[in-house]
Amino acid sequence: MTVTLNKKIVKYKVITPESKAETAQGESAQAAASPQEKLNQAVQQMDENVDRPETLHGTTYKIKTPLSEHALYITINDIILNPNTDHQVRRPFEVFINSKNMDNFQWVVALTRVLSAVFRKGGDCTFLVEEMKAVFDPKGGYFKKGGRFMPSLVAEIGDCLETHMKSIGLIKDPEISDHQREIMNQKRAEFEGKTGAATDDEASAYPTGAQLCNKCMTKAMIMMDGCMTCLSCGESKCG
Ligand SMILES: [Zn+2]
Repeated sequence: MTVTLNKKIVKYKVITPESKAETAQGESAQAAASPQEKLNQAVQQMDENVDRPETLHGTTYKIKTPLSEHALYITINDIILNPNTDHQVRRPFEVFINSKNMDNFQWVVALTRVLSAVFRKGGDCTFLVEEMKAVFDPKGGYFKKGGRFMPSLVAEIGDCLETHMKSIGLIKDPEISDHQREIMNQKRAEFEGKTGAATDDEASAYPTGAQLCNKCMTKAMIMMDGCMTCLSCGESKCG
């Protein structure tokens, strides 16, 4: 190999076997100086270099919408990184969607591939839930059992992803304190007593006449002490 030197040689050092050993020692001493860094390197993080294990465990969710007579089956498989250590973490790795209904086939396949790719890239992937839940179908959404509004099929898949991420501990549910829950139950009983509006049927878990809460998209907002308050998530117009 030919090396062209463009600059003047101002300093040189002959590398002997001894000096080489010294340098190596210095390097290992440096590495030993930062055990935390070493530990961090040993902890496996999710990125595209993580190979897919032969076997993955997952969960399949069934989604039935009024948009189609056929149900949608969503399978989310998880990977467990650093098993049996303090750094053990369970993350979604891939998603598959199956249905007899082929209407949206190409978009559904595209969505699952993009979702899986984002999972495998690593980092925080919980943002996907909000992105998907904010998709509105121009033909209008629908209400699910329990009075929850679904603005689109994509939002429904996002909702399913949220359920899954909560179940594996990636998303924490905002806590409603027992005290707050108690007040909400009390006010609800008061409201039902006053208006004679009982929980109508299994279609809604909340009193008839309850309005849609913009925060949790559930028909659960009632007037409490001159204030619209949600019986599902506790959201109140009066703060
Ligand atoms: Zn709410």
